[in-house]
Amino acid sequence: MQISDRLASFGGDDDGWQVFYKARQMKRAGVDVVELTVGQHDIPTDGTILNAMHSAALNGHVGYTDIPGVPELREAVAKRTERLTGVPTSPANVWITPGGQSALFAAHMLALNPGNKALYIDPYYATYPGTLRAVSAQAVPVPAKAENDFQPKASDIRAAALGAKSLLINSPNNPTGALYSADTMNAIAQACRDHDMWLISDEVYDSQIWHGQHISPRGLPDMVERTLVVGSLSKSHAMTGSRIGWVIGPEPAIDALSGLGLHTTYGVVPFIQQGAIFALEQGPDFEAKIAEPFRRRRQIALEILQSSDVVRAIPADGAMYIMLDLRRTGLSGQDFANQLLDAHHIAVMPGESFGQAAAGHVRVAMTVDDQAFAKALQQLVKFADKLVN
Ligand code: PLP
Repeated sequence: MQISDRLASFGGDDDGWQVFYKARQMKRAGVDVVELTVGQHDIPTDGTILNAMHSAALNGHVGYTDIPGVPELREAVAKRTERLTGVPTSPANVWITPGGQSALFAAHMLALNPGNKALYIDPYYATYPGTLRAVSAQAVPVPAKAENDFQPKASDIRAAALGAKSLLINSPNNPTGALYSADTMNAIAQACRDHDMWLISDEVYDSQIWHGQHISPRGLPDMVERTLVVGSLSKSHAMTGSRIGWVIGPEPAIDALSGLGLHTTYGVVPFIQQGAIFALEQGPDFEAKIAEPFRRRRQIALEILQSSDVVRAIPADGAMYIMLDLRRTGLSGQDFANQLLDAHHIAVMPGESFGQAAAGHVRVAMTVDDQAFAKALQQLVKFADKLVN
């Protein structure tokens, strides 16, 4: 039997992931590998949240549930959004999904017809091109260059925007750690208004801001009706395995998602939703506590990197990653990551896994304890320096 072309088109973006697979294989073989690869906390979901899920399940939250999400969770997400962005948001603007990944798919299903041109920024979160192909869109990258600290330029967006129906952005950014400036966001909003594009704004790292201010473009003039915000509790609450996220958008757009919900997930696990309500009730202090280790490790990294004239850190203003420019070594990100893994059993992601604009870089996830992180980074810097000096 033949597999559909559509399903086959989802994949094919794992070219740069060999280092990751190799590190996993070494670990299985008993090698002590320091993994600075995947964007996942080194702590589990807080026990109080798990208890809330557990009692919710025992108290009957185990049946079919409201397809758009339970009203209390939609309300809690709307309130958080209003608190963080100042943009009036009601439960009717919120659609609950099983994770941010699923929200990305839903947002593009909503925005695009087959064959539509859909823009995304390169470097990108690894699933973006596959998500766009999955909705049969024509995926077109817009570069955000290292020279510009990985902020996309207005002229590049305008050059690509002709005929495009959507633009997907992510700030704070995975993989670069960039936080888009007011100028960048205004240019993005202008291009969306001028070219009548949907803006799909992936804000799953909105609780991890180290320097500067997070701007949610939904709050910019005339953007609320054309912006779909993708969010999730994965990063803000260390709930990656709970699979809980959302799309925020204009009410008619959110209503239109009911067809997708009905025919795919049929709602999100009800006791997980109760756990999510509990998690959101813990407020901003809880989110700050979850983000704190990454804030500390970013500082540790910046101090270590000061000593090197070979490794340059791109300003890591948000998210749980640091992008390192290694072009002075003359190696590709892929070769550097491979050699570092072989020599020191430290696994980082080649920049090339996230697009062409990050070639010659590696992404370091700040996801091991402070001491192990500092040691690994010192070894990385020493290794890079030796390649040149
Ligand atoms: N968007 C970005 C930029 C991410 O980095 C991730 C996960 O790493 C996701 C979305 C998906 O997150 P989740 O599906 O766990 O909510």
